Amino acid sequence: MKRLTIAAILSFLMLTVSASAQRLPGNAYPEHYQLAFHPDLKAAKFRGQEAIHVVLKQSSATLTLNSVDLEYQEVMAQVGKKTLTATVTTDPQKETATFTFPEPLPAGKVLMHIHFTGTLNDQLAGFYLSKGEGRNYAVTQFEATDARRAFPSFDEPAMKATFAITLVVDQGDTAISNGRIVSDKPGPEPGQHTLTFSTTRKMSSYLVAMAVGDFKCVSGGVDGIPIRICSTPDKTHLASFALRATEEAVHFFNGYYRVQYPFGKLDVLGVPDFGAGAMENTGAIIFRERLLLIDDANDSAGAHRTVADVLAHEIAHQWFGDLVTAQWWDNIWLNEGFATWASPNPAKSWKPEWNPQLDEVQDTGASLSVDSAASTRAIRSKAESRAEIGEQFDGIAYGKAAAVLRMVESYVGKEIFRRGVTKYLTKHSYANATAEDFWSAIAQVSGKPVDKVMKGFVDQPGAPVISVAAKCTQKGETEVTLSQRRFFHDRKRMEAGGPELWNVPVCLKAAGSSQPARCELLTQEEQTFTLPGCAPWVFANAGSQGYYRSAYSPEAVGQMVAAAEKELTPAERITLLGDEWAQVRVGQHDIGDFLRLAEGLKSDQERAVLEIVAARLRDISDDLTSDADREAYQAWVRDLLRPAATELGWSPAPNESEERRIMRGFVLYTLGYAGGDPQVFEQARTLVERHLKAGAEADSTLLETAVRLAAIHGDAALYDQYLERSRKARAPEEFYLYQQALSRFRDPALIQRTLKYSISAEVRTQDSGRMLGSMFQNPAARATAWQFVTTRWNDVQAKIGLSLGGARMIGAAGGFCDAAARDDIQKFAAEHNVPAQSRTLRSTLERINNCIDLRAAQQERLAVWLRSHAAAGAP
Ligand SMILES: [Zn+2]
Repeated sequence: MKRLTIAAILSFLMLTVSASAQRLPGNAYPEHYQLAFHPDLKAAKFRGQEAIHVVLKQSSATLTLNSVDLEYQEVMAQVGKKTLTATVTTDPQKETATFTFPEPLPAGKVLMHIHFTGTLNDQLAGFYLSKGEGRNYAVTQFEATDARRAFPSFDEPAMKATFAITLVVDQGDTAISNGRIVSDKPGPEPGQHTLTFSTTRKMSSYLVAMAVGDFKCVSGGVDGIPIRICSTPDKTHLASFALRATEEAVHFFNGYYRVQYPFGKLDVLGVPDFGAGAMENTGAIIFRERLLLIDDANDSAGAHRTVADVLAHEIAHQWFGDLVTAQWWDNIWLNEGFATWASPNPAKSWKPEWNPQLDEVQDTGASLSVDSAASTRAIRSKAESRAEIGEQFDGIAYGKAAAVLRMVESYVGKEIFRRGVTKYLTKHSYANATAEDFWSAIAQVSGKPVDKVMKGFVDQPGAPVISVAAKCTQKGETEVTLSQRRFFHDRKRMEAGGPELWNVPVCLKAAGSSQPARCELLTQEEQTFTLPGCAPWVFANAGSQGYYRSAYSPEAVGQMVAAAEKELTPAERITLLGDEWAQVRVGQHDIGDFLRLAEGLKSDQERAVLEIVAARLRDISDDLTSDADREAYQAWVRDLLRPAATELGWSPAPNESEERRIMRGFVLYTLGYAGGDPQVFEQARTLVERHLKAGAEADSTLLETAVRLAAIHGDAALYDQYLERSRKARAPEEFYLYQQALSRFRDPALIQRTLKYSISAEVRTQDSGRMLGSMFQNPAARATAWQFVTTRWNDVQAKIGLSLGGARMIGAAGGFCDAAARDDIQKFAAEHNVPAQSRTLRSTLERINNCIDLRAAQQERLAVWLRSHAAAGAP
């Protein structure tokens, strides 16, 4: 599954609502399901008929399956020639239905017949109702534990079975499921037809998919596998890029895994309402529209990259997750971490000019930041209740696990890693596996202690910071002493240290050396290594594949900055920026050290390097700049970025690279946002108005920047135009560009309008939480948003749905940076029964405290640095 995050730093967490165990008794397992569904899209209901071939391990008069919100008309067991009718008791807490028979069923094979009914719900979970242009659709989303909302099932990942699905749908409608359509017959009622799908391979219940409506598809294929991209009929013209990206990814993974795509055909479907980003159902991937359906000729560079990335993630899962599935939800990080690790890989050969390998380094930095909280969790943690299982799908399971896999791949070598993956997939095909199965496969193939390395990073929370001290010996060699300890953003915890110790693969690179980097396994708290030659500094994460921070002396950083463009690769410059910012965060280095590094990299030609510089400049503007210093800081930012902005200009050349287009976008945006450049705002507004009013064509990547910039000082007239344009949008990207820009306006009256709008009937449930969440990222709207959310708590909860609403809002409130807001959040949480131990709450309070602390440590230093800098007349 692909999560949808408000921002990289926010985890998608649920409040702990119930701790009751979720597992079935384990005395029976399914071999085959025959399922017939009759959905009624108008009445939002469905009827189901089910036959399950069950194997009983012992004789028993009861049989317990998972079931939520289903009603039973008839339950029978067929044993030989005898038919036994069961009574049904449901347990909503445990999400089960227990069938009790008049006499014990014998051990061995039993055929169950079940007639049941259910509701096509509005919760985006189970078998649910989605609303497109004036009509209804029925769609499924089962991961993690919602197949049980659609049919009584052994709804645990290790209970694999084959599925034969039949759907009765209206004439004019069609259906998509895991198998291909093997028959399409009129009836049973007039105006209906019955679609029968091929029986699936053995798979887990959470991977079953059904979608019903007037979907239309475009067809293609690769390596003999038929591929279709499907959507509501009005959006088929937006499928061409997705089709190409799907073909590329399927072909890539066929080659990588050395196991042919296992599920016969692949359909990829965009639906109007979808809770997550996308879901990897076997052979029938379902997406939210925005992440799949784009205008290939006109949509932005970012939109293309996102579509390719999410598709690759879901396609990677077809093997890693679907063919071989985690034994239980505590190991779901292996699925998600692997798919996240794998997703940039097809683009490395298909679109190398996107520089996906640099985005990976950025992602490692973002994960290290999440993992610097004391409230982080170990990658693998207990998951028994529905809430605990839901909590597994967070930034740790995705981002950190992917970063750790990158480190391991680099440690053993790409080809050996690939062979280990193939070995693991081949051994556990159509079955289940654990983390140990995975890392022992890689350890066996490589002969390296991968199990020790991975176990340390998977079962211990947090990440190490490695302090690097290099000195020249009398023999003319460089002695490098590395010492590791757990890194915390919290300075007191950082000083106190933790008990954690990791086996860390490190690669060392000495200044001025033409030698390849020296790679070692750091296993002790402190170890010394010797490098040839006398080097003034040693870079401790050569190649940037390590999941750790490095800490250097300010003098060493100063020397690295001077040599950065010549001696450090773009990936290493990104890592250095992250390492240095981390030192500023914990007060070890002065903010001025970081600003000097930013000055050293201001004309960096790599998009991904400058992107990190720009992001930190905006963070400093948000969190560290006082009103008194704002003007001086803005002037410094303008001096820093103007040369790049002037060089990039406002008119993209026709053959310009995408990297340059993206760079123009964030350089101009940062010049406005953090530099307060009035000219930039004026030009942005002019460009947007020409586009909106006069229909002038605009480069979509630049337009995106201009729309967001213009919103910052935008008035009601502009706001109305954005709203109007979102209502008339021709494609999802255009719709979301204008809808989401509404949350960037700073005018108090417009902030109120957006808040009310975000929980109104006009906004889809799938978008509502995201809209509200982004209000918390607007510094001018944050306090008002918190007030709105707390006074309209019940409305917000009802709109966002299930238990996610509250947790998401408390998570979003982590952007505050003052004690009064923190205390208010704590008080509100206590009054609204948010458990104090909830990880979302703890994480929010910790983020605020760390920000307060950062401000206390660095705000005055920033003022001093800006004054001395202005006096010196630099840069
Ligand atoms: Zn996934």
